[in-house]
Amino acid sequence: MTIQALVTRKVDGKTASSIEAFDEAALGEGDVTVAIEWSTVNYKDGLALAGAHIMQSYPLIGGIDFAGTVERSDHPDLRPGDRVLANSWGLSQTHNGGYAQKARVPREWLIRVPERFTTRDAMAIGTAGYTAMLCVLGLEHGGITPGRGDILVTGASGGVGSIAIALLSSLGYRVVASTGRQEEAGYLTALGAADIIDRQTLSEPGKPVAAARWAGVVDSVGSHTLANVIAQTQYCGVVTACGLAQGTDLPSSVLPFILRNVTLAGIDSVNTPVAVREQAWTRLARDLDLGKLASTTVEAGLDKVPELARRILKGQVRGRTVVKVGA
Ligand code: NDP
Repeated sequence: MTIQALVTRKVDGKTASSIEAFDEAALGEGDVTVAIEWSTVNYKDGLALAGAHIMQSYPLIGGIDFAGTVERSDHPDLRPGDRVLANSWGLSQTHNGGYAQKARVPREWLIRVPERFTTRDAMAIGTAGYTAMLCVLGLEHGGITPGRGDILVTGASGGVGSIAIALLSSLGYRVVASTGRQEEAGYLTALGAADIIDRQTLSEPGKPVAAARWAGVVDSVGSHTLANVIAQTQYCGVVTACGLAQGTDLPSSVLPFILRNVTLAGIDSVNTPVAVREQAWTRLARDLDLGKLASTTVEAGLDKVPELARRILKGQVRGRTVVKVGA
């Protein structure tokens, strides 16, 4: 049996992706086969399709996320027809991912889609939204409550940023959005941002300690931006660091940590234990406003993924994109 899949190959050192008939028997190891309905495009998908050391072998089907229904299960927990989703793990790294009509994966990689969400909603959230929730859990773990002060969200118009703003504002936090796209002010305000700042005020080298502004930060940008937001964080504030859109470096000093008791909390979505994933998805189902989620989301076909992957790396994609894979 063959299925339709967006397959990425490396030829003469360059990656290229095209829709092909793919042998279902070659999908990979796993005890559950899923008929995929929706996938999505995250920043990491952009990196993977660009050949940036995400995929560890070729040819490989990209897509770090998928949602659909169980077609066949050799695991007692899941039955045909169950609605499931997968985020990250080895998808698009060591294992064929979500840009295909089917996936075969280990049971542990699958989470039941919460009742409140359609499989499309689950992919509108995707790894970006689930990571935003991990950041919110990180702030809460550090004792940050709405009464402590403003929360800054960097990379605000992106996937992680958009969902973080929606979640935090619904939870009663006053959210400040940092963006390079002032034209998105209306979009960010509708998501719940109380104030908007220009990302250029954060992107250049700054002082190791600066005027204290933020009780907490969700940072998807890294580099000088992360260093500056750490420097601007209040006493006992928490900075959750999940991204690298500006860069992987962190040109900071120990001063904010030893003078202001700032906590820098790392956020990883790939190897997150199952219990924490379950907690994040339960909280998404409780705390995410579906109207706001819809406002972040546009829909595309599988054939548009290579172009979207290029655009997301240039910061040209707003919010979230769901990719229709199934019939
Ligand atoms: P998006 O591209 O959707 O969002 C990134 C946003 O960052 C852009 O929309 C833009 O926002 C801003 N940005 C882009 N380039 C720059 C730059 N040079 N300097 C400053 N800001 C910039 O990506 P995602 O939301 O999917 O992912 C965001 C980041 O989080 C990525 O680096 C990704 O790899 C990382 N990530 C990490 C995870 C983890 O497990 N730790 C999981 C998920 C994502 P604006 O135009 O508003 O300024």
